Amino acid sequence: MTASAIREILKITQQPDVISFAGGLPAPELFPLAEVRAAANRVLDTYGPAALQYSTTEGHPPLRGWIAAQAGIPAQNVQIVTGSQQGLDLLGKILISEGDTVLVEAPTYLGALQSFQPYGPNYVQLPTDEGGIDVDALEGILKTTRAKLLYAVPNFQNPTGRTLSLERRQRLVELTAQHGVLVIEDDPYGALRFTGEPLPSLYSLGLALAGDVDSNHVIYSSSFSKTLVPGLRDAWVQAARPVVQKLIMAKQGADLHTPTFNQMIVAELVEDVLPRQIEVVKKAYGERARHMLDCIGRHFPGGVEHTTPEGGMFLWLTLPEGIDTTPMLARAVARKVAYVPGAPFYALGGGENTMRLSYCTATPQQIETGMQALGETIREALD
Ligand code: PMP
Repeated sequence: MTASAIREILKITQQPDVISFAGGLPAPELFPLAEVRAAANRVLDTYGPAALQYSTTEGHPPLRGWIAAQAGIPAQNVQIVTGSQQGLDLLGKILISEGDTVLVEAPTYLGALQSFQPYGPNYVQLPTDEGGIDVDALEGILKTTRAKLLYAVPNFQNPTGRTLSLERRQRLVELTAQHGVLVIEDDPYGALRFTGEPLPSLYSLGLALAGDVDSNHVIYSSSFSKTLVPGLRDAWVQAARPVVQKLIMAKQGADLHTPTFNQMIVAELVEDVLPRQIEVVKKAYGERARHMLDCIGRHFPGGVEHTTPEGGMFLWLTLPEGIDTTPMLARAVARKVAYVPGAPFYALGGGENTMRLSYCTATPQQIETGMQALGETIREALD
């Protein structure tokens, strides 16, 4: 295991006078505090000691049932997990044997690499562009490599903010089915689309192709962390029954079950508070993203490429070749602004000239000042 590069960087940037675009945290001022407090009281009144008792590994039935109904699948195809991070770890545990080939986007979510790493995968990086995974390249790789698993974040990816196009979704699902490759679709941000039209999940396309919920080769993972609150650690996996059965066993070994009280609180909030909260979060993140993009236009030198996210929390910069954003971070922090260098998001290296920016926790003034300072830092590195 290697230490998380992001956590190490976050330590430096927690100084109060540094404007940090480095974090991956949702905006705390938007959390529905009063609603969570009221739900907690209702749960204790309704369930009494059962709210604080051990409960089943599969998950609190009303919450599991609600998720299943939303997805239009039976509850037995849903497993509640303690954050989708746990879902990734458990999926790694049940699916990856040492030396198995795992296909990942270049770049990909660092936390997934950390989850899978202990199980000894052999990574192959999939090239990506503005439309997400290059499916022609995927086809070539599938023809020459015996892959076990493909891991992807199709909506507003962490770290790039990119979205996989509809046509590519269809081809990805068909190609992986043809080659017998399982897909993990990690989708914590899908509900947070602030512009453009929603696209079908890989899971739903896999279901249409298989014709049966227990033959779907796509495993779907999502979370209440970004739509409601992350600290309750409530998330879920949707998968074919054989996968869910193995997940139940793996989860029993990990933590028996996701905290009963937390699941009951979330179940209280999903009908009314969650849809309202999603609107609040989308509006705020959409405004902040537009402001940050606008600042790139006004404060950055030419030659810097950026993604244009349609939702989620991140955007991605590609600087001219030859600039290494890792040593540049110290110079940015000296100008009181921080970002995450892109290189750690590549399983097999690359991306030295890239960086991830989060727009979701900064105020308009901080975005303005921070982006100006970052523009100056980049200009200095170009000289
Ligand atoms: N997957 C992705 C792509 C993420 O960005 C995150 C959070 N940063 C997670 C999974 C983990 O989320 P959680 O465990 O809070 O559900």
